[in-house]
Formats: sequence, structure tokens, C-alpha cells
Amino acid sequence: MTALKTRLKQLIAATGPISVAEFMATCLFDPQDGYYTTREPFGASGDFITAPEISQMFGELLGVWAYSAWIAAGKPIPFALVEIGPGRGTLMVDMLRTIDRLDPGFTAVSRIAMVEASPRLSEIQKQKFATAGRAKPRWVTQVSDLPDIPLIVIANELFDAIPVRQFVNTEQGWRERVVALDDAGELCFAVGMGAIDPVLLPEVPSEPGAIFEAAPARSAIMAEISARISSKGGAGIFLDYGHLKSGFGDTLQAMKAHAYDDVLENPGEADLTSHVDFEVLAAVATAHNLHPQLSTQGDFLLRMGLLERAGALGSQADNTVKERLRSEVERLAGPDQMGTLFKVMAVAPKSVMLPGFDRMD
Ligand code: SAH
Repeated sequence: MTALKTRLKQLIAATGPISVAEFMATCLFDPQDGYYTTREPFGASGDFITAPEISQMFGELLGVWAYSAWIAAGKPIPFALVEIGPGRGTLMVDMLRTIDRLDPGFTAVSRIAMVEASPRLSEIQKQKFATAGRAKPRWVTQVSDLPDIPLIVIANELFDAIPVRQFVNTEQGWRERVVALDDAGELCFAVGMGAIDPVLLPEVPSEPGAIFEAAPARSAIMAEISARISSKGGAGIFLDYGHLKSGFGDTLQAMKAHAYDDVLENPGEADLTSHVDFEVLAAVATAHNLHPQLSTQGDFLLRMGLLERAGALGSQADNTVKERLRSEVERLAGPDQMGTLFKVMAVAPKSVMLPGFDRMD
């Protein structure tokens, strides 16, 4: 049994069931035994692999996007290029290498900021930058610590790691889904007591037993970023797995060693995520007078020139490299891989024309 599971059982036995959001927050960020605070999640020896770790082309195309977004925003100076939840730091390093080629003066005029909640991961990111390029990023632990200047914000697989609440439609009305102890003293899901604030609940009818997920913590981060971009200028792009339209269903999932794991089995030793509801995040941006644009990851990367970039990298390469590039393109953009499940949302003031989206209006 994991150390955190023992502690969670003791906590629940002493003080009662905890919400799914509290369970998720503890599993991911407990200072002593949390997943992001203690484990090495990424890569072949970890539990899952993210797009920047699959291929350098992902960061290169986002570098082109970020540079174009800065130009579209009127080349504000000062400004900060910000990544939230940078993991191993691979994405920012790949982005900056590309931007440096497009405009060697960029590093001198931009501030680079990394927002990372895990002290262990920010240490890994600092080591990466010690040997990569000229950029000297600053690290902060939350968005509210960013400087009050125009921001170009990038976040890949951030929101899926921010805790989500779950509500269950019962005969008594909507109730919080909680983690409790069963008769044998094991962790189990249960239904909490007490009514839920109606602003968090869906307006459309649903079946008895339906589960609805709401993530006020995700909306709060989106609101903070949107407020800053709205008042000082800039743009943001957010890539994650999830859906473009809100809906019902339990999407909480655990990943351990690249396989699905029981959500309650290994607290602190498995990654825990849930689908990101992009409709909700887009509404937050709109409420702050920003224009959200949405796409699948596959369409976005193809519009940003994924095939052309793979062609350029492969043109002088041998067949092994060509084959590797082909498989990276497939993984990032293939409809049965990350291309459709993963979504992209870019936000900016309406007048700013961002690349990579089919602008319908
Ligand atoms: N973007 C990276 C890592 C994704 S994993 C990649 O694509 O490989 C999620 C990352 O978000 C981790 O670095 C985690 O520590 C960080 N994170 C989670 N919640 C956060 C928060 N509230 N603020 C800042 N970083 C957070």
C-alpha cells in the first residue's frame, strides 16, 4: 500500500470523507508523498509521455506560434513569454531555439517566466536551462506572481492536472462525489451530504446517477490569465486532452507505467487527471473580453506546418530518421492518437489575429 494511501485512510477515518477534488489535490501535490512532488512522471521510465517529449517538432511549432502571437500583439516591450506547468522544461527549450533562429534579438527583449507548482520539477527545469541557450528564465509558483506586463502564455497538459470536483445526480438532488471508507476499511467512492451551489451545476436535465464534473480551480487559473491578457495585452494557448463541449460522465483516470490504473489504488504513485472542459474555459476567456479559438491538436499542428517541418528535418536524413519523424507526426496529429482527443484553445483580444486556427468570423 502506498504511504499516501495509509495517510488518506487515517485522515478519512478520523475526519470523514473527502471530495474528489481534495483527493486529487492530495494525490498530485501532497508535499510529502504527492505525485508531482515526489515522482518522475514523464518518459519511457515514467507513467506517461507528453507531446513535447514525443517530438521536438511540437515545441518548434509552438515557438513559431508564440513568436507570431507576439508580432500580432504589436511586439510589446517589455513583455513575458510564460509557460505554466513546464514539466521537464523541454517545450520552452525547443520553443526558444526556434524563436532564436527566426529573430536573434528576441531573447534580449523578452522576459521568460516559468510557473511551476512542484519544487522538484522546477529544479529539473533549472538544470535543463543551465546547459541550453542564452535565455535566463525566472521561476514563480503561481500565475499571480507574474509581472504585470503583456504576456504570451503557453500551457501543455496543465489543466488536466488541476483538481476537478464531481457531482452525482441523486434522488435528493445533486451531491458531491466523495472518497470514503467501505466496510472493509478500503477507499471507495460515495455520495456526500449537503446541497451543491447551483451555479456549479448543469442547466440541462440528466439521468439519475449521472456524474457532472466542474473544476472551479481550472476556471480560476484561466480567469487570472485572461484578466492579465485583457488588461495588458498578449495572447495565450492551452493544449490538453478533453472536450470542446460540456457533457456528463466520469473522466477521472489514473496512469501508472503507461497503463490505466485504478483511481483509488495507488495514491501519490499514479498520475491522476480528468478531461478538460474547453467550453467552460472558453466562456471564462469570453467573460474577460477575449476571443477564444478552438481546434483539435491535429488540425492545429497541421495548420502550423507539421508536415513541412517533418519534411525539412527529414530531407537530408537516413531512412531510420525519416521513419521516426513519420511516427512522431502520427502520434502528435493522427486522429486515433493525440490528434483528435487533444484540443487547443488560443485566446487574445479580438483584434489580434493568431496563426493556426480557421477564423470563422
Ligand atoms: N507541460 C509539460 C508537463 C505537463 S504535466 C509537458 O507537456 O510535458 C503538468 C505540469 O503542471 C507539471 O509540471 C506540474 O507540476 C504542473 N502544475 C500542476 N498544477 C500546477 C499549478 N497550479 N501551477 C503551476 N504548475 C502546475
